[in-house]
Amino acid sequence: MLCPHCNHMDDKVLESRQNSSGSAIRRRRECLNCGYRFTSYERIEEKPLMVVKKDGRREPFDIKKVERGIQITVEKRDIGQEVIETLLQEIEDEVVLKAEANREISSKVIGEIALKKLYDLDTVAYIRFASVYREFNNVDQFIEEIESITQKLK
Ligand SMILES: [Zn+2]
Repeated sequence: MLCPHCNHMDDKVLESRQNSSGSAIRRRRECLNCGYRFTSYERIEEKPLMVVKKDGRREPFDIKKVERGIQITVEKRDIGQEVIETLLQEIEDEVVLKAEANREISSKVIGEIALKKLYDLDTVAYIRFASVYREFNNVDQFIEEIESITQKLK
């Protein structure tokens, strides 16, 4: 598979994991050229993983949105990019595994997963959620969810 880091085509599979319904397999891969580690998902071909938003609308799941939220939160914290990549990987894993066969997951559940992972990683980054996000005007659904969850935890 194409290395997202150096575009090399050869890699080795380090680990394979399957969800309980057998509808998705996750493979942890390592590029043979640069050593970059990335993950691929193999799924039964079917509808894409959809996020059900608070207002009932659906949109395809995009880990980039989660990443933006995380990047903002860990800003100026001494957290390496590799740690963030791993965190995102774990979030995506859990989202894929939780969605199971119906291929749908609520934005609220995604927010909860992200929040929990972040809490385990860095308490300060976690606490920053509420204060940092309020300063942003382009608040997307993910951020709104995080905010409402953070409110509940206060
Ligand atoms: Zn590479």
